[in-house]
Amino acid sequence: MLDTLFKPKSVAIIGASQKALSIGNVITRNLLKYEFKGPIYPINPKADEICGVKAYPSVLDVPGDIDVAHLSIPAKFAPMAIDECGKKGIKFVIINSAGFKEVGPEGQAIEDEVVARAKKHGIRVFGPNCQGIINTDPEIKAYCDFTFTFPEPGHVSIVAQSGGVGAVFMQNIHDLGTGMRFYASNGNACDISIPEILRYYGDDEKTRVIILYVEGFSDPKEFMEAAREVAAKKPILAMRAGRTKEGAKAAFSHTGGLVGVGLSTELIFKKTGILVFKDQEEMCQAAMAFASQPVPRGNRVGLITDTGGPAIIATDALIDGGMKIPPLSDKAKEVLKEKLYPEASVHNPIDVLATAQAPHYRAALDVLLEEEQIDSIYINFVTPPFVDCESVAKEMAEVSNLRKKPIVCNYMTDKPQWTGTTEILTSGNIPRYDYAEMAAKAMAALSHYNDLRSRKIGEVVQFDDIDRDTAQKVLREAKDSGRQNLSAAEVYTILDAYHIPAAKWKMTETPEEAANAAAEIGLPVVLKADSEKIVHKSDVGGVKVNLKDAEAVKSAALEMEKKFGSKGLRFFVQEFMPGGKEVIIGAKAEEGLGHTVMFGLGGVMVELMKDVSFELTPIASGEAKEMLTSIKSYPLLSGFRGQKGVDQGKLVEVIQRVSQLVTDLPMIQEMDLNPVIAYEDKALAVDARILI
Ligand code: ADP
Ligand code: MG
Repeated sequence: MLDTLFKPKSVAIIGASQKALSIGNVITRNLLKYEFKGPIYPINPKADEICGVKAYPSVLDVPGDIDVAHLSIPAKFAPMAIDECGKKGIKFVIINSAGFKEVGPEGQAIEDEVVARAKKHGIRVFGPNCQGIINTDPEIKAYCDFTFTFPEPGHVSIVAQSGGVGAVFMQNIHDLGTGMRFYASNGNACDISIPEILRYYGDDEKTRVIILYVEGFSDPKEFMEAAREVAAKKPILAMRAGRTKEGAKAAFSHTGGLVGVGLSTELIFKKTGILVFKDQEEMCQAAMAFASQPVPRGNRVGLITDTGGPAIIATDALIDGGMKIPPLSDKAKEVLKEKLYPEASVHNPIDVLATAQAPHYRAALDVLLEEEQIDSIYINFVTPPFVDCESVAKEMAEVSNLRKKPIVCNYMTDKPQWTGTTEILTSGNIPRYDYAEMAAKAMAALSHYNDLRSRKIGEVVQFDDIDRDTAQKVLREAKDSGRQNLSAAEVYTILDAYHIPAAKWKMTETPEEAANAAAEIGLPVVLKADSEKIVHKSDVGGVKVNLKDAEAVKSAALEMEKKFGSKGLRFFVQEFMPGGKEVIIGAKAEEGLGHTVMFGLGGVMVELMKDVSFELTPIASGEAKEMLTSIKSYPLLSGFRGQKGVDQGKLVEVIQRVSQLVTDLPMIQEMDLNPVIAYEDKALAVDARILI
């Protein structure tokens, strides 16, 4: 439990100094300035007082108990200081100093020593190389940190691996006039981890929304468990890091890895139900809405406006964000007709007109609260100088504080002049945005969280008709003979063992054998050159499709022999599969995580359109379905303009079987089925590659 860390009754600063620009001094000053509710004990053998507070030579000289001790002394003295803290019975130590793991093996050794000694004493370590924690609770007021923003109490809690990024969020949230609850930036995280902090925030009643910043995971599985647990209870908003690699990955699927590194973080976020943002400002603005507003039940918005243009921009932005703006019921329109000005628009958006007064707004708000098909309320409010805006704001505040449906407001005013109105909106906890787009995005984020929370991903199916031993044996043999790329025969044997359907095939050694095999498979066939030297067969003329008789097969084979030489060349004969839709299903191992699986439209289309979706193993049935439905060209799979769709159930099954295959056999580094040809009633792989 981290309760004592976040709610300390007393804090010591080992290495507090009189030098104004030292970390120990800044932390002492911050605790004083923020009016920490407990005693502060600066520790310094050479000073009697620091920042006007009595100093002690050692923690052992401190008369009272110490809950949290900061260490801002050179790293090499840290292990010794930990021993003293142990003797004093201190339970939490925040090591602000740098010079540990981040500087190399020497620092790593000190860090290890610190961890070992702390464990012996039962001390939990936060950091090292970190900022610390903040608790804004008026009863506590713990500013155990050397940053410079002094937030008001509120409901947003921040946890960031990088202090630099965390501090930006804290400042931004503060600038928005939104309060903060907890802050934590744990740097090297040698002991107290981000998952642990997330869980603590998850259990904290006053935390309504969590802002998270991580760049990587030491233990992805542990993170996922914690994140899934917490995200089910309250929204976690996180930044995408390493986003730009994503664009590249689909395009380069041919030359190697299908999946970029930055992607796995995003997939972890998605799988655990974390809301992902690519813009820091947007994320903080969404946090403002989450901090004060309830989560909507759906994506249907009712708008109230007192000015035309902004409502149009808002409508566009809301639709862009995946929201719906349904018409109002006849009953609602009747009420509005009766209560609004005759010229007012009683549709959605409801235009109350610029001259509207408090009762008009209230009527519109009440109608939207009542409407079954409206989940949230969007207000465009320009403050007309000829209207009693404070009375209008009072109605909005009253409705917002009912917390029945979420409200956001695009507040268009000259803030220094309309302070009274602004204050009333603030008292109503109404999130305010300067621009329609910002308000719309925040509203969409609320709705998106609702989608994530109610997302049904189904079960991870364990197919029991598979033959794992055979697949394992094939892989082991390839490995023992020092090969990374499996031969076609090996690949198809593995597919067969996992009941991943493939077109009928035969591997042959000579043109004559190829011609005979064609007859066995059934004409027409496809002939493919099989050789260790050839990776992309069709690029070099190694694929001949629709060969209609034995003669055609033989002459195609002879031609290939001429082109590639007969040494090491075999002929792969395959059933010809005309007229289906080509899709790609790929997988790639991710360190410590399992595999990422990719789905997209196959062949050259993958590289051209980059229209692909990804998921982490193990893939549940609902997730596999989403992989299909989330690509832009999904209509091509479901049927479009009279064209019949393909057997989606089969594709979903193949994705799940691939997921099980790579999970069962983690030795597989990369695998791709490109293409799988999908028809109305089946889907068959016609080209496959496995890399171990
Ligand atoms: P590579 O990817 O090495 O170039 P493929 O085996 O994927 O070779 O073949 C290239 C293309 O040829 C496929 O994308 C598909 O359009 C077509 N093709 C390959 N095999 C068949 C087949 N059995 N039936 C129909 N078309 C095929
Ligand atoms: Mg291919």
